[in-house]
Amino acid sequence: MAWENGRVTPREPAAGADRPQVRPATEGWVQRTATDGRPLLQFDAPRRGKPPLHLGDLTPADRAARVAELGLPAFRAKQLSTHWFAHYTHDPAEMTDLPKQGRAELVAQLLPPLLTPVRELRTDDGGTIKFLWRLFDGALIESVLMRYPGRITLCISSQAGCGMNCPFCATGQAGLTRNLSTAEILAQVVAANRAIRDGRLSASATSTALVPGSSLPPSAFDVEPESDPIEDDAVPAHHRVNNIVFMGMGEPLANYNRVMRAIRTMLAPQPDGLGMSARGITVSSVGLAPAIRRLAEEGLPLTFALSLHAPDDELRDDLIPINDRWKVDEALDAARHYFETTGRRVSIEYALIKDMNDHAWRADLLAEKLNARGRGWVHVNPIPLNPTPGSIWTASDRAHTQEFLRRLDVAGIPATLRDTRGKEIDGACGQLAATEEEQAEAAALS
Ligand code: SAH
Repeated sequence: MAWENGRVTPREPAAGADRPQVRPATEGWVQRTATDGRPLLQFDAPRRGKPPLHLGDLTPADRAARVAELGLPAFRAKQLSTHWFAHYTHDPAEMTDLPKQGRAELVAQLLPPLLTPVRELRTDDGGTIKFLWRLFDGALIESVLMRYPGRITLCISSQAGCGMNCPFCATGQAGLTRNLSTAEILAQVVAANRAIRDGRLSASATSTALVPGSSLPPSAFDVEPESDPIEDDAVPAHHRVNNIVFMGMGEPLANYNRVMRAIRTMLAPQPDGLGMSARGITVSSVGLAPAIRRLAEEGLPLTFALSLHAPDDELRDDLIPINDRWKVDEALDAARHYFETTGRRVSIEYALIKDMNDHAWRADLLAEKLNARGRGWVHVNPIPLNPTPGSIWTASDRAHTQEFLRRLDVAGIPATLRDTRGKEIDGACGQLAATEEEQAEAAALS
């Protein structure tokens, strides 16, 4: 491939560069290491028992088979699917098309409650809601619902906690509790759709630009806004989530099979699934290169986002511990492969951290590495770092943010400064981690 010959090598800042170089270690952060001395990464979740089997875990054929096993006609499976995927309910009282006799038992078998609400926080304008859910085993997860002009975005979790150990992310610092089941992933979308249906998400779309005076359009996630093609009598399209980002808790590609099954069900037409469009679904990853290539082969026009955060291995080794396994160039090659295979433009996530990764020379190096792999295949989403509890770093200031964007622009790399929706309710990127208070509240529910 062409860019392999023109491979760029990281370079040091130009002589005379007066910006300090802050690194996690110099700020007192200590990389946790595994017994082999390499950075700690948790791929295997501790065994904690399985969540109850749910209709959302099954294919349509298996749903019918399960209903038949219970001695009922197969069409009952379709009715239950309609209640969950189109009416967003698991309440037997609302299922008047099912015979009263045995209804509660059937619903308990196929639609057991998976998410218990612990807390629901909303922004003052009501356009953003953060949900804190308790799972069957006490594990806590969060999802964040955001209304934008023309679309409704849900940021969902793929794992309880996260094993990737990124120092600037609250979830990463809390470690991995376990993988979510397919139905637990889907249930977050169903619950959000229910909240919208019930009028709990403010109807007026507002947006918040984080950088005061910024002329850049505020855009939380770089996904092309699009109208929902699905006609649904029960719930109009603008009354449900039409944009999903796997940017809540967890590393989606570390829970690959369950995440893919959940995505396929999101895409299946109602009532077999949620009838969503693949272009409205974004999978975000720290850069598990083989899994990115596998995702490319799925044959789905999903949006892929790579959390890069540094163009040089020296810094990325510290910022994104998975860089110990797959280096910047390997992650970028896999991202480019994703574009070539799917035709979908890749997003590069870049949290701007003051004096750590926001140097102009890094913007240049980033642009060089992206351009070396072709033109028009990638879009950069810088986002000012969100503060996390006990965080020792801060967001880049306005001047350096603008300079970073300018350098990318000069190099012909499209970039959009992302806003940080939900900051006031700790619902912004990297801020998702249950506080001690919330854990106590959740424990009181059990
Ligand atoms: N594990 C996946 C998805 C979850 S994080 C991933 O890393 O991509 C979603 C995005 O939020 C990632 O780009 C992540 O790097 C970013 N993020 C994490 N902590 C952040 C923080 N404190 N401020 C801004 N962005 C953050």
